[in-house]
Amino acid sequence: MDQKLVGVPASPGIAVGPVHLLRWEVPEVRHRIIPDDAVGGELQRFRAALEKAKERLSQVRDRVERTAGAQEAAIFDVQRSMLDDVELTGAVEELIRQNLGAEKAFEIVMFEWSQRFARAPHPMLRERVGDLKDVEIRVLTLLLDLPDHDPVDLPKGANAILVTHDLTPSLTVQLDRQAIAGIATDAGTRTSHVAILARSLGLPAIVGLRTATQQLTGRETAILEGSTGLLAINPTHKDIESYRERARQEMVADAELRRLSALESVTTDGVRITLRANVDLPEEAELGATSGAEGVGLMRTEFLVVGRATMPDEEEQYRSYRRVVQSFGAHPVVIRTFDVGGDKLPVGGYPTEPNPFLGWRAIRMCLDQPEMFGVQLRALLRAAVHGDVRIMLPLVVTVDEVRAARALLDQAARDLAARGAAFRHDVPLGVMIETPAAAVACDTFVNDVAFFSIGTNDLVQYTLAVDRGNANLATRFTPLHPAVLKLIRRTIFTAHQHSLEVAVCGEMASQPLMAFALIGLGVRQLSVAPRSVPLVKRIVRSISVEVAEAAAKAAVAVGTAAESEATLRQHLAGALGGDGFFGDGLPG
Ligand code: PEP
Ligand code: MG
Repeated sequence: MDQKLVGVPASPGIAVGPVHLLRWEVPEVRHRIIPDDAVGGELQRFRAALEKAKERLSQVRDRVERTAGAQEAAIFDVQRSMLDDVELTGAVEELIRQNLGAEKAFEIVMFEWSQRFARAPHPMLRERVGDLKDVEIRVLTLLLDLPDHDPVDLPKGANAILVTHDLTPSLTVQLDRQAIAGIATDAGTRTSHVAILARSLGLPAIVGLRTATQQLTGRETAILEGSTGLLAINPTHKDIESYRERARQEMVADAELRRLSALESVTTDGVRITLRANVDLPEEAELGATSGAEGVGLMRTEFLVVGRATMPDEEEQYRSYRRVVQSFGAHPVVIRTFDVGGDKLPVGGYPTEPNPFLGWRAIRMCLDQPEMFGVQLRALLRAAVHGDVRIMLPLVVTVDEVRAARALLDQAARDLAARGAAFRHDVPLGVMIETPAAAVACDTFVNDVAFFSIGTNDLVQYTLAVDRGNANLATRFTPLHPAVLKLIRRTIFTAHQHSLEVAVCGEMASQPLMAFALIGLGVRQLSVAPRSVPLVKRIVRSISVEVAEAAAKAAVAVGTAAESEATLRQHLAGALGGDGFFGDGLPG
C-alpha cells in the first residue's frame, strides 16, 4: 500500500472501495472588479448559476425524498427558497451593478445573512446558518466552474469510502447506504455526533484523521478498518486479501457474539448486570430489541430533528416514541428530552456561540422555550401509555432545573387531560449526571428524581476540560482519569445510599475494559449501542464482581489515566485467563 492514515476508531467494520473525496467547503473567492460594459453579462451569469443551483436542489430533494423521506427532504425546499428570496438576490445584483464580480458579490451578501441568522434569538433560525452555507457552496461552485460533488451522485453499489472534513446535517441526510461503504472524517472523536450516527447506521467509520482530505485526491482506493482506525491507501492485492480475512474473522466473532443474545447477563459470581440499548434513531429500536438488551437506557431524541426544517410536532414525536416503546414490550425505555446544542445538531452543527459546549443547550434551551418543550413532554406522556417510559433530563447542573421541568411536565399532563387525550402522569423523571456539578452535588437531587444515568461522554469532557469533538485532543480524552472515576464512584455511592437506580449510558459502558471498571465501581446497569450489547455481555459473563471491585479500587488509587488503564488491564487479563476472544484488542 502507498500510505496508512491513522484516526480514531468510530464505528466497527471493514470496508474496501474507491475513495470519494467530498470537499464541502466554501471555496476561495477573488476580489474582482468588472468594467461597466461587463455588468450585464455578469448579472446573466449570476442568474444562470442561481437557476442551475435551484435545479440541482430540486434533484437532490427528490432523491432524498425517495431514499430518506419527505421530512428529511424538506430542508432542500428551504434552501431553494433562499435562492428565490428577492431581498438576497437583489442585494447581490446591486453589488454587481457597482462593478463587483458575481462570486464576490454573492459571498459578501451571504456573509451578511449568515451573521444576521447567527444572531437570531430563535434556534430554528440560527440553524439556517448551515443551510446558507450549503447554498453558498453550491452557487459559488457553479460560478467558479469547480467540480460539483454531492455524495448522492454516487451510483448504488459504488461501495465508496466517503472522505470528508466533517458531516453537516444536510450531508448526513443524503448519505445513501447503498452507495457508501464507510466514512472517514478529518474532524471528530469517538464521542462526537458523527461517530454516534455512524454506529447507529451500522457504517464502518474512522474520525479524527485531521488531514485526510488534504492528503487524498479522490483517485485512490482504500481499506477502512473501523475498529482500529486505520485507513490503508492504495492497498496491494495481498493487503486486500489479508483484510478480507480480517473481515471474515470479524463476522465469525459477530456470530459468536449474537449467540450470546439469549444468555443471561450475569457475572461468574452470580451478580446480574442489566444491559440496555442506546437508541439514536427510532428505526434502531427493532435491532436493539433483538440484541438481547433489556430495554433502552438512552434514547437520544435530538436525532428526530437532524436535517429538518421544522420541529417534529406532537403527533410525529408520539409515534416515534411509541415505536421504540412498543419494540421493547414491558422493558423500561428511558427517553431523554432534546439535547440540542454543543456538537449536537441542528443548532450546534455550526457553533453560533463563542462556547457552544458551555452555552444555551439541552435542558437550558428547553426550559427557556416552554412551548417547544411542552410539545415533547406531551408526546412522551402519551407514549407512556404503551409501556414503561421514563423521562431523563440532559446536562442538568442544579435541582432547580429538575423542579422547573417537573412543573412543565405537570402542565403537559393538565393540557392532555383537558383535551381528553390518553396519557400517563406517573412517569419516573431522572437526570443525566454529566457535569462535575451534578456529580459532586448528586445528593442534592435525590428527593426530586427517580434515577441517575451517568453520561460519561460529557462528564469526561467537562471534568478534564477536553472538547469531546476535537481530534487534536483525542489522546487527552481519558475516561479512566482518577478524577472521572472518583466522580462516578461518588454518584453510584449516593444513588445506592438513597435506593435510586443508577446506570451508565456514555461510551465508556461499551468498551470492555471500562465496563469492567464500572462494574467494579458498583454499576449494575449499562446502556450501550445495540451492536455492543453482546460484546459487553461477554465481558460480564467472564468476570466476577469481586475481581472487578479489587481492580476498580486499585485503578482509583493511582495518579494517572495511563496507570489506571494498566492496572485494570492487569486485573482483567488475570480474570480472563486463557480466553483469547478479546485478544490484545481490549479497547482502553
Ligand atoms: C454522554 O454525554 O455520555 C451521553 C450519553 O450523552 P451524549 O453522548 O448524547 O451527549
Ligand atoms: Mg451528554
